[in-house]
Amino acid sequence: MPRFGAHMSVAGGVELAFERGKRVGCEAMQIFTKNANQWNARPLDAGVAERFRKAARDSGIRPLLAHDSYLINLGSPRSPLLRRSRAALEDELQRAEALGLDYLVIHPGAAVGGSKDDCLRRIAECIDDVHGRTSGFRVRILLENTAGQGTVVGHRLEHLARIIDAVDEPGRLGVCIDTCHLFAAGYDFRDAKGYAATMKEIGRVLGFRRVKAFHLNDCKKDLGCRVDRHEHIGRGFIGQEAFRLIVSDSRFRATPMILETPKGDDGFGMDIENLTLLRRLAGRTSGGGGAGGLLQRPSAARRDDPRGGGGT
Ligand SMILES: [Zn+2]
Ligand SMILES: [Zn+2]
Repeated sequence: MPRFGAHMSVAGGVELAFERGKRVGCEAMQIFTKNANQWNARPLDAGVAERFRKAARDSGIRPLLAHDSYLINLGSPRSPLLRRSRAALEDELQRAEALGLDYLVIHPGAAVGGSKDDCLRRIAECIDDVHGRTSGFRVRILLENTAGQGTVVGHRLEHLARIIDAVDEPGRLGVCIDTCHLFAAGYDFRDAKGYAATMKEIGRVLGFRRVKAFHLNDCKKDLGCRVDRHEHIGRGFIGQEAFRLIVSDSRFRATPMILETPKGDDGFGMDIENLTLLRRLAGRTSGGGGAGGLLQRPSAARRDDPRGGGGT
């Protein structure tokens, strides 16, 4: 059975994500290690990292993923932004390693005014550069497929494969498949036939061993829309059947599957409902699993509850 979880807010301190994760029944979890809309962040001090690692052990929530900042563009044709992005990626990887995370999920990049080929080449070069300065790190970068909004690359599985083929240490890279992005990019996996065809493509172009995580999100817009708008599971244009096929696919038996669905004002949104539905679709009725499974709704918004902090 896959390990289900959600993106959780780190408001008030990174280690607080575990409390929130347990409340909704996460078995795996994703966080931002810094504000995703800002370049700079205070360095993580050793005490914070130690508290985080302890909270991680105590929670039993694993694997742990980070998502990189939205500002980073590793494919930028503008060298100041490219340099800044490269430095920011290295910082993200340092933070993830210090916290003992398993994976850092990154959006590949955007061509902006340049060509797609140059963009893909720059992304691979950035990753090589950062890998070179972080040798021996345990945490691995996962390239996320994209919806293909604007000049963003990564909406074709082939783009991810080209980056992996171009880097010096491909063994340090994996892939995170976002279902909303996949559908928005035009891959139709809503029924058994489409699902089989899409999976065949993933196997052929990337190989299943590269797929280390899923982002499970339904899509607010229709197939091929090329826009990135997440919806609750079964309530968007993808629909429940596709999610049933994914969560019951034996190839992804041990793969973390993370929700990035809208959070709403209480910082939780429908995380409990979505996780319960996924477990039901996977044929697991009791819910909760290894994470304690406290499947009651978090008591309505205490004053100190986190605001915002949703993921993409
Ligand atoms: Zn998204
Ligand atoms: Zn995602």
